[in-house]
Amino acid sequence: MSAREELSVVLREHRYDRVRAVCECSDEVQVGLNCDAETHEQHAASIILAAGYSKPRTITTAEELDALGWKATVLDANGCVWVNDGDTLDEWASLSERNLQGGPIWRGSADIALPATVLHEGEAK
Ligand SMILES: [Zn+2]
Repeated sequence: MSAREELSVVLREHRYDRVRAVCECSDEVQVGLNCDAETHEQHAASIILAAGYSKPRTITTAEELDALGWKATVLDANGCVWVNDGDTLDEWASLSERNLQGGPIWRGSADIALPATVLHEGEAK
């Protein structure tokens, strides 16, 4: 099942019944009877996030890159994937581009082409 089909099923299960003012999932614990449209929108957003769907975060500054954790992974503006390997000098190692010897290329945050998309937030440094 594609992501579009999965989301369609989720939205179908959680349609808002305006006449009865209740979600069709009848989850009275979360939304309650007589929930208003705004409450239902929050409920539906929570269901979508709980199902694992989220918008990828975009990084636009070197400072934001520095704030990511160890083993954080980003896709840069040129299509190269970088992982933060914790090196104190050049903390970013390329995963999708290699040097002449076949190893990774190391760069500092200021040298990563932005904007970059966060693929993994990483762990606390
Ligand atoms: Zn619902």
